[in-house]
Amino acid sequence: MSTPMVEVRSVHKSFGSLDVLRGIDLDVRAGEVTVVLGPSGSGKSTLLRTINHLEKVDSGSITVDGTLIGYRRESKASARRASGKGGGRRPGRLYELREREVLRQRTRIGFVFQNFNLFPHLTVLDNVVEAPVAALKRPRKDAVAAARKLLARVGLADKADAYPRQLSGGQQQRVAIARALALEPKLLLFDEPTSALDPELVGEVLDVIKDLAASGTTMIVVTHEIGFAREVADAVVFMDGGVIVEQGPPAEVLDAPRHERTRAFLSRGV
Ligand code: ADP
Ligand code: MG
Repeated sequence: MSTPMVEVRSVHKSFGSLDVLRGIDLDVRAGEVTVVLGPSGSGKSTLLRTINHLEKVDSGSITVDGTLIGYRRESKASARRASGKGGGRRPGRLYELREREVLRQRTRIGFVFQNFNLFPHLTVLDNVVEAPVAALKRPRKDAVAAARKLLARVGLADKADAYPRQLSGGQQQRVAIARALALEPKLLLFDEPTSALDPELVGEVLDVIKDLAASGTTMIVVTHEIGFAREVADAVVFMDGGVIVEQGPPAEVLDAPRHERTRAFLSRGV
């Protein structure tokens, strides 16, 4: 069996005396969609944020595509080079990454927020072009061509020159998805991508996410859209109180939950 795209192992995270993640273990296989459900405050956003290094874990580890998030394992060659300069680094040991290296790791993970977080002063096209030019040093001409393709993919080819405030929430979120895709991420994280939308705009955003799922993009989607989970998820994870209470295929977790807390959550119909 192939290595999972994401491996979360015994992750703990506290804010002061509040234990928000209390031992999370999760595997996400390449090309699969994992939907995370759970009541407000259960730690879903914090989990996504640790995977994207927006938060540092207190203990445990996370790897994405075999790379340890936030750390680097010293290779023999670079330990030797550093030792020559009196560095004394040992192969195999873990070293925490500096901010610049963290940013580089983060470019390979796309993050779509509840509130879109577009740059208000940039056009739709420039919102999508900015990151590949700034972070990946792509020539602007190439980035523009790629951005136009991505905008077409999310159904917004005709909005390239508009500003975010001229778009509906659903359109803004589709721009945000195009922007995340512009970095050609190995992994896409969605944190309640439709929660800020009027009900009639939810479908158009879910359709874009479904299209990405069908094309084999590896995704973790935090959402309250149970219908979407049933239709699209390869795995469903139910979190409560900082732990994963139950996980498995949608047919099990959604239609035959084993835990009382999962049943109670689903029957509330949120
Ligand atoms: P969810 O996304 O499932 O609603 P969160 O991960 O956002 O849950 O939050 C889990 C708990 O952690 C909540 O009680 C929240 O108030 C708390 N929390 C989240 N981020 C912080 C932070 N930066 N500082 C302090 N408390 C936080
Ligand atoms: Mg949240």
